Amino acid sequence: MDKSLRKPVIAGNWKMNNTPEQTKALIEQMKPLVAGADCEVILCTPYIDLYAAMEAAEGSNIKIGAENCHWAEKGAFTGEVSAQMLKAAGVPYVIIGHSERRQYFGETDETVRDRVRAALNAGIKVILCVGEVLGERELGITDEIVRKQTKVALSGVSEAELANIIIAYEPVWAIGTGLTATPEQANEVCSVIRSLIAELYSKDASDHFVIQYGGSMNDGNAAELLAQYDVDGGLIGGASLVAEKFAKIVEAASK
Ligand code: PEP
Repeated sequence: MDKSLRKPVIAGNWKMNNTPEQTKALIEQMKPLVAGADCEVILCTPYIDLYAAMEAAEGSNIKIGAENCHWAEKGAFTGEVSAQMLKAAGVPYVIIGHSERRQYFGETDETVRDRVRAALNAGIKVILCVGEVLGERELGITDEIVRKQTKVALSGVSEAELANIIIAYEPVWAIGTGLTATPEQANEVCSVIRSLIAELYSKDASDHFVIQYGGSMNDGNAAELLAQYDVDGGLIGGASLVAEKFAKIVEAASK
């Protein structure tokens, strides 16, 4: 068991925040603060901000991602953006299956699976979000829920393709609420996901597979969460909108 087999990944999820101008300003602020990072640094922005973000991040260690993509290559899907379009725009990462998409926009395990497939086919790396709602945790079915979401999303994904996927374990009750899973709770579920990867693929694949925790991670609690054996990084919402806070999380992951 060697945690150093995996390079930590800190990714920001800006959600529906920042104009292109604000995007440039925030990335300019972040660049010097994260320049010495010994981890991957990704910022996922609204579609409208992607060009501004890539331009601002050019030449730095910050990589840019989108917050979703459609499963079809093109067609009559008003308001949607395909993985092919993201690829053509030069976007290297995409978040898929975020709980806000599942909660408010009717995404299911099956549409998440199809979006993952589309992103991989287009050559875009995926941050796949899974996690239980509070009622499911209270019923004691967290592991079952997370295993099912992961299994469906990865059905059809080969072991070679796993290198292009990160899973973010995000308990829905901890997202944007200020409630954080304890380091033990976070590690427990990340470890369930790692065991599932071993079961579905191989021990080697699971040893190298990056699993993030997300849910009110901030500059105050990041170090303890990131120190857990099965937590290889974080998906950060609110704290990724403040340069100093995000930089402190990146620093914690670099130790
Ligand atoms: C998220 O949006 O993925 C998230 C974890 O948000 P927050 O950090 O604000 O809880």
